[in-house]
Amino acid sequence: MATEKDFTSTYKPTWCPGCGNYGIYPATKRALAELGIKPHEAVMVFGIGCSSNGANCYKLYSFHSIHGRSLPVAIGVKLANHELTVLADSGDGDGYSEGTNHFVHACRGNADITYLVHDNRMYSLTQGQTSPTSLKGTKTVTTPAGSINEPFNPVATALVSGATFVAQGFSGDIPHLADLIKKAIQHRGFSLVNILQVCTTYNKVNTFDWYKQHTYKLDATYNPADFNGALLAATRTDGKLPLGILYQTKRPTYDEQIPQIKVEPLVRQPIKVADLEPAFDSYR
Ligand code: SF4
Repeated sequence: MATEKDFTSTYKPTWCPGCGNYGIYPATKRALAELGIKPHEAVMVFGIGCSSNGANCYKLYSFHSIHGRSLPVAIGVKLANHELTVLADSGDGDGYSEGTNHFVHACRGNADITYLVHDNRMYSLTQGQTSPTSLKGTKTVTTPAGSINEPFNPVATALVSGATFVAQGFSGDIPHLADLIKKAIQHRGFSLVNILQVCTTYNKVNTFDWYKQHTYKLDATYNPADFNGALLAATRTDGKLPLGILYQTKRPTYDEQIPQIKVEPLVRQPIKVADLEPAFDSYR
């Protein structure tokens, strides 16, 4: 049985003191270990951002991809070997700006991967610019008079785009977050865990205390099978942000509907060299 330590590389994180990534990192490792997954059975695909520097910190198969593109690479990995546990890991700028297109289509496609988004409401690696989830009025170097855009709502977008598992956690509550990540990995299909994260260096508005005041946990009376209830929780207008599993349903996954990989993973199938000459001939 693997432990958190087995998922820890010798590379020490360089995040700023107090960064929420220090909560998300152990929560993810704990989830993997408690599920009995071994490091060689898991793959994490990262985008670009402070969070994605975690690619060096985990001891498992990891791939540091390009901005906004963790999802298509992760889906490709899953299709090549669907026996692997595959996670994609992005920040809010990475995943909800450059990667929005991939996000929406991954929700409707329902590939069996887990998407962790470190949502600190800021482009932080590039030193504090407004991101899609920044609150209206947020002042940064790119919006010195305050952002005039309404913030992007990732959990509501996931719901209406067809995601079969939608959850929201907080980087400051590691046990609760680890449990959400565990359930997201166990879910068959696309699972989003939007993680409200503090950025101690650039986001002076959405601090640890701010999140404590603006979040609440979904309790036992909440029904995650109720889509309309989930949409209501995701779109509350009083500024309160729900923590927990907002929605979960069952639908055939993308990978299990592909006949070519029903028998065994692509990586174990012989490479067949197709004769392309007839196709070329038709153009000659
Ligand atoms: Fe974390 Fe913000 Fe520092 Fe990046 S800039 S490492 S998100 S505290």
